Amino acid sequence: MLENLSVWIWCCGILAWCAIRYPHQRRARKLKITSHRRSKEEQLLLSGAAAGLVLAPIVWMLSGWPSRWNYQPTPITTAIGTACMLGFLWLFYAVHQQLGRNWSITLEIREDHQLVTSGLFSRIRHPMYTSFWLWAFSQSLLIPNWFAGLTGLVMVGLLYFRRVHREEAMLRETFGRPYEDYMRRTKRLVPWII
Ligand code: SAH
Repeated sequence: MLENLSVWIWCCGILAWCAIRYPHQRRARKLKITSHRRSKEEQLLLSGAAAGLVLAPIVWMLSGWPSRWNYQPTPITTAIGTACMLGFLWLFYAVHQQLGRNWSITLEIREDHQLVTSGLFSRIRHPMYTSFWLWAFSQSLLIPNWFAGLTGLVMVGLLYFRRVHREEAMLRETFGRPYEDYMRRTKRLVPWII
């Protein structure tokens, strides 16, 4: 019963994620890119994140694999997982609104790219990555299987730690001094902490 509820909450979260992302993905296709840091590694990391955050839980739901790593969820894990999922969706929506046409799925600079330093970005440089950590954390609590639950955290970790330095180097090269000053007064993921 509790297992069905937590998996159902996870599925609703995934549908809401698609609905929030879709219009931005559509608009981004039409906006000109002036420079980028796309690479084979970046492609692999993005595919890995999709596999860890979406594919692994879906395979587990449809086939039960790997069933020997199932465990019983508790009301506390379901409640914290749901709170993290709601936090993720709110943050994900707000970051898309604030980043606007400057958003890209990968590392890209668009024509007339504006450096955003207000709203969520006034305290942290990577609120969207904060939202991804929340998403992966909620998955680990809502999907009661050690494998399908934890693949999201592993893949988000890989994507984040391999990407964040390259993204900041690209933005430093593009915006110069204003980005360096912005880096000095902000943290990466959690205001005042990290
Ligand atoms: N790392 C950010 C944005 C993720 S989307 C976050 O976690 O919220 C990735 C794109 O956002 C990159 O291609 C980069 O060009 C752009 N970007 C990142 N920070 C930005 C900022 N402060 N202002 C404008 N664009 C930014």
